[in-house]
Amino acid sequence: MQVSIDQDLCCSSGQCVATVPEVFEQDDHDGLVRVRRTTLAPALHADVRLASVLCPGGAITVTEDRPAGGRGA
Ligand code: SF4
Repeated sequence: MQVSIDQDLCCSSGQCVATVPEVFEQDDHDGLVRVRRTTLAPALHADVRLASVLCPGGAITVTEDRPAGGRGA
């Protein structure tokens, strides 16, 4: 899983930082959120998905890993 933030959509609510501080951090000066790490350990996946759903700006994009060896549809 990978995660990114569109800072043009971020309204600096801080919801994601409160939900997963291991992944998201908020700048003290401009209030914008940044991703601490883009590739996430499996233990963080559920919380990051929740942060994405809760984000009021729709600014968080989660990209799920594709299964290895899959042939697609
Ligand atoms: S929850 Fe969304 S809008 Fe709020 S700070 Fe995080 S990325 Fe920005």
